[in-house]
Amino acid sequence: MAFKIDPDNCTACGACELECPNAAISEKDGMYRISAKKCTECDGDEPKCLAVCPADDSIVPV
Ligand code: SF4
Ligand code: SF4
Repeated sequence: MAFKIDPDNCTACGACELECPNAAISEKDGMYRISAKKCTECDGDEPKCLAVCPADDSIVPV
């Protein structure tokens, strides 16, 4: 399981990239994405990316 970023809802604020403990979030050409291989869903804790994301439905389960 992992999360992904919906580019239709992401405002590219960059907040999530700084919070991910696994460096699973990266930016390229102004678009943010989550590596499904690196995302552990924060190992059962509240997902840190979701906690800081200001955009509704921007980070969603894969
Ligand atoms: S759920 Fe956790 S591990 Fe996965 S992208 Fe978000 S902050 Fe990173
Ligand atoms: S915190 Fe949310 S709106 Fe900001 S870059 Fe990440 S997914 Fe996009």
